[in-house]
Amino acid sequence: QAKALGRCNYQYYSPEMNARTLDRLTLENALRHAIERHELVMLYQPQYDLRTGAMAGVEALLRWRPHGRDMIGPDVFIPIAEETGLIVPIGEWVLRTACAQQVAWRQAGLPALRMAVNLSARQFRMSGLTAMVAQALHDTGCEAGDVELEITESVLMERADTAEETLQHLSGMGVRLAIDDFGTGYSSLAYLKRFPIDVLKIDRSFICGIPGDANDAAIATAVAALAHSMQLSVVAEGVETDEQRNFLMSLRCEYAQGYLYSKPVPAGAIAALLGTMQ
Ligand code: C2E
Ligand code: MG
Ligand code: MG
Ligand code: MG
Repeated sequence: QAKALGRCNYQYYSPEMNARTLDRLTLENALRHAIERHELVMLYQPQYDLRTGAMAGVEALLRWRPHGRDMIGPDVFIPIAEETGLIVPIGEWVLRTACAQQVAWRQAGLPALRMAVNLSARQFRMSGLTAMVAQALHDTGCEAGDVELEITESVLMERADTAEETLQHLSGMGVRLAIDDFGTGYSSLAYLKRFPIDVLKIDRSFICGIPGDANDAAIATAVAALAHSMQLSVVAEGVETDEQRNFLMSLRCEYAQGYLYSKPVPAGAIAALLGTMQ
């Protein structure tokens, strides 16, 4: 049981443990109809600028609420969506929904919020990705510079040449690129130099132990120093305590996201959070 390992070890909890208790085929078939049945829901988790205390952006996080069932988290259904190829239409729905929301906030007079959207490995490898992104931006009227696409390190390592081409195209369009869960995957630091990356997101498994755990503190410090020396900005994810925030501020980490500020919330709750002081 994940809990018995201590609160910083939740990353060892495998989504399979969850999925096994559900009927995989039923789930797979239901997921095929999730978009048309309006069962997919986007939540948004604010990211705060540690220098000003202001909300600077949000990360779009997907949920699935099948009719008559409890909400299912992405750790359970994203792997199924990847295996079945359903990630392609689902990923397109996510990007369009998030971009449309970004524009709706702007039109409602909210301060500009950057919209971070996760891309899964299979989505990143699909041939029409850049065209899909361009179309979503065009159709929603969202500015490329207001969108940040999050990819994981493993995506960069597989077929590095195609990955580089895709990243160059996206970056050329003006979209920002972030490495999610930085430090947890297999990758080579050489890619940071070679690819047009803008942001490193320090994984929450390293944030969990700071400032007390010497290893986590060393890793967070090293990642921030590495990022800054390469002109990248740093987002810390999973920030839950004032002590963690203070330590991140001492590292001159630019942005923080986590339960200390807010859990992921429906779009309608963002305006209210903008009004609260941090
Ligand atoms: P991620 O991109 O690393 O997202 C951060 C996860 O950490 C989210 O889980 C968020 O709810 C959680 N989190 C944020 N702050 C805290 C905190 O202070 N403490 C703790 N314990 N957790 C925190 P969530 O929403 O369950 O998403 C899990 C993963 O599913 C995401 O990890 C991302 O890889 C994937 N995912 C979510 N939405 C999408 C999507 O639209 N498309 C794709 N391809 N993947 C998605
Ligand atoms: Mg993410
Ligand atoms: Mg992450
Ligand atoms: Mg993570």
